[in-house]
Amino acid sequence: MDLLLVGAGLSGAVIGRNLAEQGHRITIVDGRSHIGGNCHTERDAETGVMVHVYGPHIFHTDDEEVWNYVNAFTRFLPYKNRVKTTSQGAVYSLPINLHTINQFYGKTLRPDEARAFLETQADTSITDPQSFEEQALRFVGPDLYEAFFKGYTEKQWGCSPTELPAAILKRLPVRFNYDDNYFFHRFQGMPEEGYTPMIESILDHPGITVHLETMFDPDTAADYDHVFYSGPLDGYFDYRLGRLGYRTLDFERFSDTGDYQGCAVMNYGDRDTPYTRITEHKHFSPWESHEGTVCYREYARECGADDIPYYPIRLVEEKALLNDYVALAKATPGVTFVGRLGTYRYLDMDVTIREALDTAQAFLAHAAESSAMPAFVKSPL
Ligand SMILES: Cc1cc2nc3c(=O)[nH]c(=O)nc-3n(C[C@H](O)[C@H](O)[C@H](O)COP(=O)(O)OP(=O)(O)OC[C@H]3O[C@@H](n4cnc5c(N)ncnc54)[C@H](O)[C@@H]3O)c2cc1C
Repeated sequence: MDLLLVGAGLSGAVIGRNLAEQGHRITIVDGRSHIGGNCHTERDAETGVMVHVYGPHIFHTDDEEVWNYVNAFTRFLPYKNRVKTTSQGAVYSLPINLHTINQFYGKTLRPDEARAFLETQADTSITDPQSFEEQALRFVGPDLYEAFFKGYTEKQWGCSPTELPAAILKRLPVRFNYDDNYFFHRFQGMPEEGYTPMIESILDHPGITVHLETMFDPDTAADYDHVFYSGPLDGYFDYRLGRLGYRTLDFERFSDTGDYQGCAVMNYGDRDTPYTRITEHKHFSPWESHEGTVCYREYARECGADDIPYYPIRLVEEKALLNDYVALAKATPGVTFVGRLGTYRYLDMDVTIREALDTAQAFLAHAAESSAMPAFVKSPL
């Protein structure tokens, strides 16, 4: 079959590769001048440092098949994400762990003592936290909430933590030991040469043709037996019901020599510091050596029509609009909506790859048992 994939990010690359291996002819279009989508990495022209152009990306997963998949296309080196935060004039370890608690309160608590102490700080009158703020107050109490969550969250999401769902904070546990590895996953690492060469290698198949700087033209869809679309869901329908809300990011680059901040990611928790974090990219490749260093100050704001959509907001109004777009998508024959934009979800890379592998599998299964073209292959929507 002739298949069109919109987007040369992880979703498009993995689906394309798996279907090309089964003999299908794959055309991939991407509006950008490079492959890799938001995982794109490139060497900084001035310093030679490998830069995560659309923000820091750390690979972490418990999915062994996905881990084996990416390792088949590139070499991963060990990398643990250890984030720090500057807040109220001091530097602390994140996620909140025993070190953070002891440093913040000037104590020398052992794990059980810290657990008991934090219970005295927590607002136990909140039995069923509804908002992010309630969840934080229930978990850690007002002092740690103010220092580590409130200002950062307001900057990141552009709204009060009282308006955000409690579920967001469930993903940030407090640890009563000194483990400061940001992720719990069994497999963690960084591709030695960056993500773009990995995705290039996934796309390197004679059945795949990639056209960069080429926006999807709906009129060409009829030339293909099926379309996999990893662009924005609302964009596919020309935003006819309105725009799904996103946060976008601005990156302010600056360079220096030596080591600017001593770690890859430094968050800024105070509300009056306008940026959310500074990323110093050379720390993502500790096996390399560079005299210069390049950093990105990261600012979050509302996503306008011409901005790159980064984080789906998924508040109450967005969810209603999303349901309407999902209904339209399900009624669109011959198109499968995939990936972070096509399904309007924040997806880590490993989940993106898992869903791409499953989508390709579902398509092949459907194609094998039916002579008619599938109208809507099961998509993660
Ligand atoms: C700031 C940030 C940090 C992240 N950090 C991590 C991390 O540390 N670890 C992790 O596992 N995951 C991380 N992620 C998630 C990761 O970026 C995604 O899992 C991944 O990019 C999803 O791939 P995708 O192919 O679905 O989407 P994308 O990477 O967005 O690719 C979609 C592609 O489609 C193209 N496109 C869209 N519309 C059209 C159109 N109409 N015509 C032509 N082309 C089009 C775009 O140009 C883009 O290249 C992070 C995400 C963000 C935003």
